[in-house]
This record gives sequence, structure tokens and C-alpha cells, in this order.
Amino acid sequence: ANRIVVKVGTSTLIRQNSKINLSVIKSLARVLSNLKKSGKDVVLVSSGAIGVGMGILGIEKRPTKISRQQAVAAVGQAELMQIYNEAFHEYGVSVGQMLITRDIIDYPESHTNVMNSFQELLSMDNTIPIVNENDTVTVSELDHHTKFGDNDQLSAIVTNLVDADLLIMLSDIDGFYSANPLKVPDAELIQRIDTITPSIIAAAGGHGTKFGTGGMTTKLKAAELILKHNQEMILANGKDPDIITNIMAGEPVGTLFS
Ligand code: ADP
Repeated sequence: ANRIVVKVGTSTLIRQNSKINLSVIKSLARVLSNLKKSGKDVVLVSSGAIGVGMGILGIEKRPTKISRQQAVAAVGQAELMQIYNEAFHEYGVSVGQMLITRDIIDYPESHTNVMNSFQELLSMDNTIPIVNENDTVTVSELDHHTKFGDNDQLSAIVTNLVDADLLIMLSDIDGFYSANPLKVPDAELIQRIDTITPSIIAAAGGHGTKFGTGGMTTKLKAAELILKHNQEMILANGKDPDIITNIMAGEPVGTLFS
């Protein structure tokens, strides 16, 4: 793969105690910087703004009120980018913040503009775009016309948009299982999925962690979009971001949607 999109979920970035997982971010910066320097095109889609904002503001429970979530995300996004900025700086890499909304699908002009920004950023040496949904503009978590859903679908749309070879989706679990392993301990990892069937959708039950929001349902929606465009997605565990290097070396890791 020469052009990859990497999506990291909240569950990977935020610890259960609301603290940001700095060591994961540092490793992520090292691995992605090395890939970029070896000539790969890299886009990072990062969740975590609400989780980081909760930590800063001392909020324990994810707010249910949408406007509150948006405000918390605004605080968290600034901090999150500062942390990425510092982490990538260690490797001489600059980061470009791209906050995106569904407008890029609905309005051709927005679509063109965002495409152009991506092309320009990807053509730069030592620069990596970091994408997140523009939480203060999007309206409702449940309204799928305006909201992507914890970046899973956004990362698939970005993968389509930049015509990447591969979407690496990092979560807090080793891959897609025959059932939610939190509830069914003997569930088995599925190594390869080529069609999203109703029985696969049925296996994606329930939400995972306190901070993660999408669960497997939005990841399957992302996978559907990827398969529709004849692209590939790998769902893998992000607790050690060096797994990206293993994936790039062609090792069989996690669940391959292809
Ligand atoms: P992220 O923050 O990385 O997007 P989520 O917490 O939203 O992650 O989703 C990951 C969680 O989805 C897992 O921790 C797991 O509990 C849950 N899950 C539900 N069904 C499945 C399944 N069939 N296979 C794997 N994980 C599942």
C-alpha cells in the first residue's frame, strides 16, 4: 500500500480514567512519521476530542446534551492537536488540521475544496493531515444526515476521497469477532470478510467502552463503503501502534475487509 488512512478510536487514545494515553500518541507519531519519510502517503483520522475535553474540564460522564458535547469537543480538539503537534515534532513532521463535515459529500464545491487541500497536504514532505469531524458544526449524534458517527464512516469517506489503498482502523479490540467478546468470551476472530451480510451485522452488538461511541456497527458501515469502492480495510488493535508496521509488511493482522 502506498497511500494509507489510519483511524484511531477514542478507546485507544483515552484511558478509562479520562486521561489521554500519551504513549500511544507518541508511538503513533513515530510509526506514521517513519512511513511518511519512507515515501508513503499518510492521513490520520483521530477521534478523542470529547474524551480529551472531558479530562480537561473534569467531566466524568460523557454529556448527553449535544450542545454540551460540542463545547467539550471544542476544548478537547485544541488540546488533542497540541499533543499531536508536539509528538510529531519529535520526528520533524508537521501536522495539518482538517475539520470536516458531511457537506463534503452533499456540496460539490466543498468536495472539490477538501480534495484539493488533501492533494496539497499529501504532496508536502514531512507533513501529515489529521482529520476529525467538525463537531461544533455537525448537529446531532443520531442524525446520520449530518453526523458521521465517531469518525468510522468519516475515515471511510476520506479513504474513498483520497483514493487510498488501505484504511487501517485501530480500536481496542484485535479485530471483528463472531460476537462481542465482552459478552461472549469464546467468540472467535474473523480473519477476512468480503461482504457485510445480515449475520455479520447481527454479530456487532452493543457498545464497547465508556468513551468509544460507534462500536462495531459504525465500523461495519465504514467497511461497506470501503468494499463498495473496491478498497481494503483492516480492523486491528491500536494499543501498540507498531502494529501498523506489521500490517504494512503484509503480516496477517486483525480482520481484513477485502
Ligand atoms: P473505538 O473507540 O475504537 O471506535 P468502540 O468502543 O466504539 O471503539 O468499539 C469497539 C468495541 O466494540 C469493542 O471493544 C467491543 O466491545 C465492541 N464489539 C461489539 N461487537 C463486537 C464484535 N462482533 N467484534 C469485536 N468487537 C465488538
